[in-house]
Amino acid sequence: MQKLILVLLALIAFSCASVQPDGSQKTLEEKYANQIQADDLKEHLFLLSSDILEGRRTGEKGQKMAANYFTAYYKHLGLLSPQSYPDYTQMIPQEYFDEKSNGPSKNILAYIEGSEFPNEVIVISAHYDHLGIKGSEVYNGADDNASGSSAILELAESFQLAKKQGHGPKRSILFLHFTGEELGLYGSKFYVEHPAFSLDSTVVDLNIDMVGRVDDKHSEEREYIYLIGSDRLSQDLHKLSKETNKKYTNLTLDYTYNDKKDPNNYYQRSDHYNFAYHNIPVIFYFNGSHSDYHRVTDTADKIDYDLLALRTKLIFYTAWEIANRDERLILDKN
Ligand SMILES: [Zn+2]
Repeated sequence: MQKLILVLLALIAFSCASVQPDGSQKTLEEKYANQIQADDLKEHLFLLSSDILEGRRTGEKGQKMAANYFTAYYKHLGLLSPQSYPDYTQMIPQEYFDEKSNGPSKNILAYIEGSEFPNEVIVISAHYDHLGIKGSEVYNGADDNASGSSAILELAESFQLAKKQGHGPKRSILFLHFTGEELGLYGSKFYVEHPAFSLDSTVVDLNIDMVGRVDDKHSEEREYIYLIGSDRLSQDLHKLSKETNKKYTNLTLDYTYNDKKDPNNYYQRSDHYNFAYHNIPVIFYFNGSHSDYHRVTDTADKIDYDLLALRTKLIFYTAWEIANRDERLILDKN
């Protein structure tokens, strides 16, 4: 029965984004960025954070339903599955989770092959696991991290539409949904130990973890995002990221948590860190903490969907630029 519900909900969510009025379109990238819409994000997010998915705890039934939703979606869009991981699935055995998981679990991987530099890969990632059920209460994890998971689905749809219309990315793009983040970054650790594309050919990881809310600091000025890590390994990436935002989205980029002295140490606290550890440049996109963080009150009704769409567009433009410019991102010398 639950499977049936999921299929029905999936069909609703799969209904295509409405076509934009053509008149004001300026560039190709703007045309495809405009396919990212608040209503589509909302449908994904409400589904992924619904009680039916039981808080998506690693290795449990609700999390598997989320994984099934992703694979059905990528199949529907026609994205590729990496050769070594058919059906978009990288299985991780239960033992790998140091007894913190009740079963094996999956990373989900789908990609679009680059037209000119297929062996250079841009990773766009977000974890999809959350805290599950405690007592009788479901931890829905709407912001953490149904928001990032939904953003990835919309990004994949936009890039795939571009590909179908003859404007696919020059470099390959891998859309990666990590498991086991809440248990200790297990999914991303497993991935870098078993990469679908060699780490040498991995250009960047754009990691999305909590992008649907506004923290207290920015309650008066909502169009912001914290960026973490962009200048640590590649000044080239840092510059590209800033310029892209200035050109297209004009969000306030807040680097507070990028400060090496910041006591929160967010740089090491989500999945991008396993890429940075291997000298791959990263950007961590994050809205900051809030009073619903890791509580049962992190629910879909509290997400700002227009803002989620705007932030997702920033990530789209950044990935577009990295994927399509002539030169691969330049790593700093040290
Ligand atoms: Zn998270």
